[in-house]
Amino acid sequence: MSDHQPGAPSIETLLATLASEFEGAVTPPIVQTSLFTFDSYQAFEDRMSGRSDDPLYTRVQNPTVAAFERLIAAAEHGEAAVGFASGMAAISSVVFAFVRPGDRIACVEHVYPDAYRLFERLMRPFGVEVSYHPVEAFQSDAEIFQGVKLAYLESPTSAVFQTLDLERVAVNAKRHGALTVVDNSWATPVFQRPLTLGIDIVLHSASKYLSGHSDTVAGVVAGSEEKITRIRDLSLTLLGGKLAPFEAFLLTRGLRTLGARMRQHQSTADVFVERLSVHPLVTGIFSPGPGSAPGLEGRSGLMSVELDKTIDIPRFADALKLFRLGVSWGGFESLILPAQIALNQAGEQNSMQRFGVSGRIVRLSLGLEDPNDLWADFDAALKASAT
Ligand SMILES: *Cc1c(COP(=O)(O)O)cnc(C)c1O
Repeated sequence: MSDHQPGAPSIETLLATLASEFEGAVTPPIVQTSLFTFDSYQAFEDRMSGRSDDPLYTRVQNPTVAAFERLIAAAEHGEAAVGFASGMAAISSVVFAFVRPGDRIACVEHVYPDAYRLFERLMRPFGVEVSYHPVEAFQSDAEIFQGVKLAYLESPTSAVFQTLDLERVAVNAKRHGALTVVDNSWATPVFQRPLTLGIDIVLHSASKYLSGHSDTVAGVVAGSEEKITRIRDLSLTLLGGKLAPFEAFLLTRGLRTLGARMRQHQSTADVFVERLSVHPLVTGIFSPGPGSAPGLEGRSGLMSVELDKTIDIPRFADALKLFRLGVSWGGFESLILPAQIALNQAGEQNSMQRFGVSGRIVRLSLGLEDPNDLWADFDAALKASAT
């Protein structure tokens, strides 16, 4: 790791060795309880008055969840972290902890579609202004941070994977007193640590790479002790979107192999990018690699490709044998999501429609299968669907 200090453990070592703090057990037990009792009136009163922080009630505090939170805080170089029931619970909890009616959120275009809907359908009716800007606007110290309470960022963004110079964005935002929040689900702390670049808050859909096994829906937020305490006290306690102990156990299990999985996803993605870039039926590749932005150290397995207009995309999708069709990403299994399906989604307008993603784009989540098997499947399906 480029920011690897002499004597400090690398992220792989940290994720494998950080102790579970349960009397020598290498994995944390699943503390499946709603409440914790006290030995005495005094101990109970000490807890309620804030003189102790013994566990009280699982909505707010649970030892299995705390083990996961410690691991993420260390991996993201934050002082603290707080787990949530989903990535969306993490996002909404951050926003509700810091934004009030009359405040303004500045958001990247091509933001995750449900984050866009949160801003449009919930925050706007609560009197919160939301403006959307291309990634370049956040990097030039333009007026966009003026009067902004919170800058909501993804790097790379969803669907088209545009990257941000997070260090520069953090400097620009600080000058105007705006809080910066980055969704780091794509890169994971293995490839990018936004807090070390000056960003205030980093969050994840832990349902993706952090879990890695497509068996959990969860979220997590990391940052300074002060900010995480505020999110915990206001949003976790009062909105109540808590992470369950069993899910936290699965996430800790997933994190132990995060480094190895991300390097495998990267090597498969590198094979794809190399072969896609010379493929006659591929007209565009959206896959930022190491160095595409300062502090981005790897390429994850989630990318988009634009297919030639001679490709019948429904036929292509149906011709694939190893890639499965579905939402979500970041698991062991390879998936495709044709943009046209998201563009045709029922209900409110989503960010993909508003900011103009091409219907010829297909998103790939490259899993842990053999890269040559995956490529053979992808290439055969392309050839079988050219008209
Ligand atoms: C999936 C996703 C989310 C939402 O996470 P859930 O765990 O599904 O609630 C947020 N951000 C990004 C970039 C995602 O891909």
